[in-house]
Amino acid sequence: MQHRRLFTTAAIAALTLALTPTTAATAAPDTTPYYWNITGPAATLTTLGDHDLDIAHTEPDGSATVIADTATARDLKNQGLDVSFIDTVYKPVPPGTQAADTYYGGYHTTTAHETHLTQVAATYPTLATVYDIGDSWRKTQGLGGHDIKAICITKKQTGDCSLAPQSTKPRFSMIAQIHARELATGEVAWKFIDLLTTGYGTNPRITALLDTTEIWIVPIANPDGVDIVATGGNNPKLQRKNAHTGGGCTGTSIGVDLNRNSTFKWGGGGSSSSPCSEVYRGATAGSEPETRALENWFKAIHPDQRGTGDTTPAPSTARDVMITLHSYGGYVVIPWGWTAADAPNDTALRTLGQNMAASNGYYVGNGPETVGYTSAGVTDDFTYGVLGVASYTFEMGADFGTCGGFTPAYSCINSQIWPGNRDALLTGAEAADSPYN
Ligand SMILES: [Zn+2]
Repeated sequence: MQHRRLFTTAAIAALTLALTPTTAATAAPDTTPYYWNITGPAATLTTLGDHDLDIAHTEPDGSATVIADTATARDLKNQGLDVSFIDTVYKPVPPGTQAADTYYGGYHTTTAHETHLTQVAATYPTLATVYDIGDSWRKTQGLGGHDIKAICITKKQTGDCSLAPQSTKPRFSMIAQIHARELATGEVAWKFIDLLTTGYGTNPRITALLDTTEIWIVPIANPDGVDIVATGGNNPKLQRKNAHTGGGCTGTSIGVDLNRNSTFKWGGGGSSSSPCSEVYRGATAGSEPETRALENWFKAIHPDQRGTGDTTPAPSTARDVMITLHSYGGYVVIPWGWTAADAPNDTALRTLGQNMAASNGYYVGNGPETVGYTSAGVTDDFTYGVLGVASYTFEMGADFGTCGGFTPAYSCINSQIWPGNRDALLTGAEAADSPYN
């Protein structure tokens, strides 16, 4: 799917501002990030990632969206690439006092999410159970950090919500903010938790779902990364990876990309061995404590239902669905990520993808058909490839504008992104009993 980019008046004003030379000799260099569209010779474009540029987004036609300050954009232009301004990264934040443990107009910090889970479990003891599933990198180093928290929501019967794969009820699992800067994803997880817990007994659709299905959610899969993001306040830091230091990386280039570090097909295309790259895969498969926590948790709640061959389908009787929330672009991405070849359950994965997309309007396809590339070591390849769970990546939000990019204005959560995805998530959860039929 191609997104034609339109230049709004505000965007052109920002561009003019961005390209105005600084007159004061003592002024610090302007490091304000913007989104730029890059096109040019394919050979040059394919080397962009090798320069540790922050490639936010790519299109199937080979053009790329890069996040860079204006000096870097000029450098790229000087290298012969066609560089055009797309949008500002940061959107206006309404004036006024923000609630505690929020930033950038209302986004919740890791601490706020932890408090939220504790409060939900205390308020709805017959529905919700919270687990500590492992540590963040900083916690393993004695540098603060966090426990990674999962919540199980169902109308609890004896044995429900236990960490054992052979459960009575089928399971739907969801993770968010594994890429810390993809701000909308954690908020959507928060809203989904509240929808389920407040809806039981009042909303027939929610009641039926929780009577028959376990819903497992990790709202903050990369808590250290979210801590870094939140330190930016009204200009959130664009930290994508975890907080693992080393490799000579500075600023938001530190860390391992937790969505390239999974143990299934680790190390292939679309991931980098360069520590400062935004798609740095880590030193070894599953090197990061966050990855190990998530994989152990997935294995504890989903049965192993698929053989090991690349072309071996999960049986049509397999159960369970997993969705990992990302931003942006408006896609429902199906496996595989590691190869452009069709997944063995391709037809059935597309069918459920289309059923979810019927409400959110997103474009359904595999990596090359949507984001325009393959990517090895991703979460949904692990849950589909290892366990046979019907697995999806949602790329939520628009390409540009107030509600676009990684850091939409907070008002967009309630006005667009949550209501736009709510029914798609319910459709996915309702399919947990028999996703391939
Ligand atoms: Zn992402």
